Amino acid sequence: MVKTLEINNRKKISKQTPQKRICNFEEVVLGYDKKTAIAEARRCLQCPVNPSCIKGCPVKIDIPKFIKKIAQEDFTSAARILKEKNSLPAICGRVCPQEEQCEKACVLAKKNSSIAIGYLERFIADFSNRLIDQSTNLLTDKSANSQQTGKQAKIAVIGSGPAGLTIAGDLVKLGYDVVIFEALHLPGGVLSYGIPEFRLPKQIVRHEVNYIKTLGVEIKTDYVIGKIETIDGLFKKGFKAIYISIGAGLPKFLGISGENLIGVYSANEFLTRVNLMKAYLFPQVATPIRVGRKVAIVGGGNVALDSARTALRLGAKKVYIIYRRSSKQMPARAEEFENACEEGIEFRFLTQPIRIIGNDRRNVKAIECISMMLGSPDASGRARPIPIKKSNFIIDIDTVIIAIGAGPNPLLLNNTADLELDERGYIKVDSNGKTSKKGVFAGGDIVTGSATVISAMGMAKKTALAINDYVKEQLLQKKHLV
Ligand code: FAD
Ligand code: SF4
Repeated sequence: MVKTLEINNRKKISKQTPQKRICNFEEVVLGYDKKTAIAEARRCLQCPVNPSCIKGCPVKIDIPKFIKKIAQEDFTSAARILKEKNSLPAICGRVCPQEEQCEKACVLAKKNSSIAIGYLERFIADFSNRLIDQSTNLLTDKSANSQQTGKQAKIAVIGSGPAGLTIAGDLVKLGYDVVIFEALHLPGGVLSYGIPEFRLPKQIVRHEVNYIKTLGVEIKTDYVIGKIETIDGLFKKGFKAIYISIGAGLPKFLGISGENLIGVYSANEFLTRVNLMKAYLFPQVATPIRVGRKVAIVGGGNVALDSARTALRLGAKKVYIIYRRSSKQMPARAEEFENACEEGIEFRFLTQPIRIIGNDRRNVKAIECISMMLGSPDASGRARPIPIKKSNFIIDIDTVIIAIGAGPNPLLLNNTADLELDERGYIKVDSNGKTSKKGVFAGGDIVTGSATVISAMGMAKKTALAINDYVKEQLLQKKHLV
């Protein structure tokens, strides 16, 4: 009986209280302490045959094995097992939608009590990072570069988000000379400019980027490929293969009147100002940001929730999320939805903005919306929102943040001949990430459209092997020709 209760008792994680956390930008979730992590790990059944959690993990971490090591209090081995498959565990432990992946697949999920795999991953990754900070070097994987038999060839990676960082780490371990070209002044992609400090502290991103650098990857920032240099130019400079991982960072707008009023932001601009340019530290940091008292965010994904919770922390008194479907269809992570509700964000479901209204100085003063109902599923498989006639209403606000998704930035794509795109403008690849252009591979959001950190990483890991095969074949052919 006691044993059953224990198994069903998923250990809670500690968080800052909602009242406290809305006044700061520090991390909301405080993590497991050692005792709780061990207790949680000991709940794992160590399923002997084909553990379903591994099937649910996009990068196939040996989950029972790393959990067993935690249960045995051998955190160093647990970290090694994690890092075999995931070079960014402290990030994944914080932002991956485990409730839709490994935890959903865990046998205990049937009892609503799946093992807290994400929290355990985070615990171990933080433990490992602390060790590295203390320079014990226990976890700097010396065997990682064991396959490095002298530099084989130079590979260029364009973009330093999760896809770029992951493939760079894997390729350098395979013995390649890897250079990442990043358009912004800091590496990390969305991890640096999009996801806020209170969900993913930037010190963690820096740490993971440094780990990739210690493996031998060079990162050149402020380097926009398509502008400073072209793909063909990189080949001429001696790169044998190129991986494009430039994400999907071009903001979409609603196309309604009033979107050019003062006080309307794209979520991309808003979050970049706050996260990358540190506007939340203004005036110590010279990036101003204007947030009014009443803010409306349009959208229902992680980006919308991040924008809403950021606006609240910047001093907004009332923050609405306007979403045209219901809570069930919201793409945001369940945990973040819960956090946003606790913090007092007001959700206006089944609501579609149709006009932003300005005052005589062209500042936003209100938003006109229409109520929606749900119809049969659309192309995305989700229930189609249908406007209800004559249901218009107005909400008084002074700031609008549009967070309805992003698309591919055409700058590099339009400057690259022979690169086939799909009908939405994303790069077409085969199952190994190979594009239509010889020697060019691609992955992450620029292939799938906006997705997740772990899906970008999963694709990158597969493509690292395909690039290895491709380059080896090229080198072999060259040898035969000589
Ligand atoms: P990105 O992370 O977008 O990185 C692309 C990089 O390429 C950028 O640094 C960019 O500056 C650079 N670049 C672009 N063009 C060029 C060029 N021409 N030359 C050189 N460099 C270039 N996913 C989750 O799993 N969980 C979450 O909780 C989550 N929350 C999110 C919150 C926000 C606000 C956003 C925007 C996204 C969120 N996502 C989340 C999605 C996730 O972050 C992305 O799916 C993931 O970052 C995609 O990785 P990527 O490497 O393909 O691209
Ligand atoms: Fe442990 Fe759940 Fe995986 Fe079974 S499915 S090994 S209980 S984490």
